[in-house]
Order: sequence, then C-alpha cells, then structure tokens
Amino acid sequence: MGRCFVFIISKKWLSSFFILLSCLILLAFFSRYSLGIHTLSVARQEIIYDVMLDAGHGGIDPGAIGEGDLYEKHYVLDIVLQMRDILTKHGLKVGLTRDSDVDVSHLVDNGGRHRRDLLGRFKLMNQGAVGISVHANATKDKTQRGAIVFYQKDRYINEMYAKLVLEEVAKVQVLNEQHPVPRTTLLLLKSNPPVLLVEIGFMSNPDDLAKITDPQFRTSLAHALSQGILNFIAWRDGEQSE
Ligand SMILES: [Zn+2]
Repeated sequence: MGRCFVFIISKKWLSSFFILLSCLILLAFFSRYSLGIHTLSVARQEIIYDVMLDAGHGGIDPGAIGEGDLYEKHYVLDIVLQMRDILTKHGLKVGLTRDSDVDVSHLVDNGGRHRRDLLGRFKLMNQGAVGISVHANATKDKTQRGAIVFYQKDRYINEMYAKLVLEEVAKVQVLNEQHPVPRTTLLLLKSNPPVLLVEIGFMSNPDDLAKITDPQFRTSLAHALSQGILNFIAWRDGEQSE
C-alpha cells in the first residue's frame, strides 16, 4: 500500500512536472514572440506631434541613385524641411524623423543597421497624429515616371488621406498610378496614425530627374504635399465633429 501511495505521488509529481515544463516552454515562446511584437507595438506610444514627416533614407543609405551620383536622400530631405516650415506656419506641431543626412538606427537595439533604421522610423512615425514618408523611385525601365501614393490596405481613413494627398500632388507632378496604391508589406504604413508613403517621381527617368533636382519643383511639391495633409486634417476634424 505504501509503495502504491508513493507511486501515486510520483505520478502526480510527474504530471505536474510536465505541466510546469509545458508552461515554461509556452512562456519562453510567447515572451520571445511578444518581444518581437513589442518592437512593433509602439502604437500605444504617446502622440507628440500633429504631423510627423519622414525623409526617406539618409546617412549610410542613399536611397535611389540618379545618373551623375544624385542621391534620393538629399532631395527628399529638402522637400521635407520645406514641408516642416509650411506646416509650422499653419500652426501645426511638426516632428521629423531626421533633419540632416543621418539614419535613425540608433533608436533601436536589435538587428542590422538598415533594419534598426526602419524600426527607428516606425517608432517615430507613431509619435505623430498623421505621418508621411517622402521618397523618390528608381527602376530599370527608364520610361517609368511620375508620382505614386501608397497607403495601408483596408484602412478607410488612410485611403481618404491618400486620395486627398494624391489630388494635390497631381497638380504639380504627373502620376505613375492614377489612384492611391494599397499595400500590406510596407512597415511604416502599418503605424497607428494614418501614414502615407509618397514616391515623388523616378530618379531613373530623365524628365523626373530634371524635376527632382530643380529646387522650384521641390518647393511646389512641398506645398502640394503640405496642402494634402492640411486637407486631410480638415476632413478628419470635420468627421469627428459630426
Ligand atoms: Zn526611397
């Protein structure tokens, strides 16, 4: 009987041990999983700015390169700095992911520099009530030209925002895509606030390159993008007051 009791105890112990082990394995799995998610779930972060502007690339990353060693990172920064001034004049609190030729990889601990840079930008984009990331394109087909506006697929607010920005961009630049393009694979678009990624034109196309390197064109584009943002804010505030 005594032996039988010991057997029951040890059987209980054994099952407790396995339950405990399974719990530990699950815990280890989920903590690892949630760590991965945690890097992305800065969505609960406090909103600091009315608008967050992101000039694509910077620092080690030149972005698209046009003939004659012309780097996307410089032209998009110029546009974004002008946008900051325009939107600030309209009374908005404007944040920038960068205001010089740097990347933001220092904001994140894990991964390679490009990955950390992207995650750093994602973190910053979540500090704005609205965001926009400005880029210039490049492709092998030199006939490709014009602007593209990307937004996060299946988000109605973001789609409205994209339409309003595209409408303004179309006044100063030809369009590569006549409608905003939905995407599911661009991290910045997944930010909690509505964020767009705008390709202002193709550095690989001679006509677009001539425009992108023209300061006057960049100024008119900065105004167009800013106006699109202002129109969206007006629309959003109107929706909320109804
Ligand atoms: Zn780019």
